Amino acid sequence: MRRWNGWGDDTILYPVPRNASSYLIEKIGKGAPLPEATLDEVLLAVPPSRLPEHPLVMQSAEERVRHCRGQSIPDWLALKSGNIDSFPDGIAYPSTTDEVQSLFSYAEKAGAAIIPYGGGTSVVGHITPEKGERPVLTVDMSRMNRLVSLDEESRLAAFLAGVAGPDLEAQLRAKGYTLGHFPQSFEFSTLGGWIATRSSGQQSLRYGRIEQLFAGGLLASPAGLLEIPAFPASAAGPDLREIVLGAEGRLGIVTEAKVRVTRLPEQERFHIVFFPHWQEAIDSVREAVQEGIPLSMLRLGSALETETQLALAGHERVISLLERLLTWRGVRTQKCMLLFGVTGTRASCRITLRRALRIFRLGRGIHVGSYGGRKWAESRFLIPYLRNTLWDKGYAVDTLETATDWQNVNRMVEEIESALHGALDTEGGPILVLTHLSHVYPQGSSIYITVIFRTAETYEETLRRWKGLKTAASKAIVKNRGTISHQHGVGIDHAPYLAAEKGRLGIAAIKAMCDTFDPHGIMNPGKLVR
Ligand SMILES: Cc1cc2nc3c(=O)[nH]c(=O)nc-3n(C[C@H](O)[C@H](O)[C@H](O)COP(=O)(O)OP(=O)(O)OC[C@H]3O[C@@H](n4cnc5c(N)ncnc54)[C@H](O)[C@@H]3O)c2cc1C
Repeated sequence: MRRWNGWGDDTILYPVPRNASSYLIEKIGKGAPLPEATLDEVLLAVPPSRLPEHPLVMQSAEERVRHCRGQSIPDWLALKSGNIDSFPDGIAYPSTTDEVQSLFSYAEKAGAAIIPYGGGTSVVGHITPEKGERPVLTVDMSRMNRLVSLDEESRLAAFLAGVAGPDLEAQLRAKGYTLGHFPQSFEFSTLGGWIATRSSGQQSLRYGRIEQLFAGGLLASPAGLLEIPAFPASAAGPDLREIVLGAEGRLGIVTEAKVRVTRLPEQERFHIVFFPHWQEAIDSVREAVQEGIPLSMLRLGSALETETQLALAGHERVISLLERLLTWRGVRTQKCMLLFGVTGTRASCRITLRRALRIFRLGRGIHVGSYGGRKWAESRFLIPYLRNTLWDKGYAVDTLETATDWQNVNRMVEEIESALHGALDTEGGPILVLTHLSHVYPQGSSIYITVIFRTAETYEETLRRWKGLKTAASKAIVKNRGTISHQHGVGIDHAPYLAAEKGRLGIAAIKAMCDTFDPHGIMNPGKLVR
């Protein structure tokens, strides 16, 4: 069963090796776990529902607890402390677009707000019910999980939008196709959620972000049904897909989506190269992407991230052999690890690998083969389970991300890292700040930062620490011309910073769109724009 107050399936554990614990203690001190509320305690605190009965709406306390928060640090702190100040009043499980449409009338009559719910993996507060007088109906899309049609000639697949990653891929793979969209939350996140948050999968370099994959579909809204036809391209005015992408449930509910699919590749391998220094590594990665080498992913870790990954990996003997080999080749303490994917036909993979390695060798990169890459691929969706393990040891793990042009990448990394290190008082620090570039473009790159900090003695103080870190990083991003989000979206946590990149007129245009599709303001209030 899915954990109600943590990540993932509760039968899956991600133990860390002993040396990983000592590594963390050495870097940031010993963590002390906080006491946690039990599910029974939380269930007792759920207030009565304010919604009238409806055949599609469930009102049990457990359903309401399981849908009340996502996966951000404030979400975890609320769930784990049991101090939850708002719950949805009911959870609807529609199976068709007509049923979704009928829920709008039901909610309007009941004076309720609606929160569309995909997999509940949001990390920025997208699915938190607003506190207040108005009842809240959460619409869980999990029953709408079917492949509706596959047009093999045009390589277009239509899905009901509540389909989660594994189900979507299984239905396509059975017919020899893939969407190729693999966010790290793949196990639970859904097609509708990806579209609503402008998600980016780990192999976006080959397959594109969800913006490139989403070809058209159906948006059910309080004002009616918007049908977006799937053209290969169109010059017929503004593209309506763009207003659905990133709408975060504010305009309506995506019930069906057509996506661009690809034949399953003949071969896929992930390779690892170690560079002696960050600058040589980043220059090589930029060159590879600007040269148009058709790699399927590039993930470059900073020196500290590389060191930490190796420390947390276990396999002490293998890692120590690797370290010796690298030292002998002149790649030492400042080494940066690049993981890259080569996907396609056997022949094209051979050529691509050769071209990529030629560039990486010029940056003094040492290719260590594909064994580590295979291990990474086997556990790529298990890594989020590490958050549970570290939490149990008294450490919180948060992630934040931005994107900027190449000229600005190094400065941005320095500014965010230094803002984070300066954000906590001596009680709260030190912290571990781990940076990598994972979605790279010819014009620039995303910057993804994982922050590991000790939880405090109380939940209130832990939340205060998180707020200090989040505010410092967000201010640094905005001040240095970065987007407030490359892939996680806006939700509640990034909303205060949105105007910095959209401007007054831009925010007014987004609000006007919300008014058009949702004239009575019932859709996911408080998220994206206020
Ligand atoms: C461990 C972890 C790893 C992650 N890795 C990545 C990553 O690699 N790349 C990435 O992009 N993101 C990542 N995320 C963030 C998150 O998974 C994405 O934002 C994802 O797209 C959310 O999908 P979901 O189905 O869970 O949506 P939810 O969390 O349920 O909802 C998110 C937003 O979408 C809206 N929404 C959901 N379904 C619909 C619909 N059918 N119609 C209209 N609106 C809808 C909701 O109202 C809400 O505003 C990660 C999160 C976690 C916890």
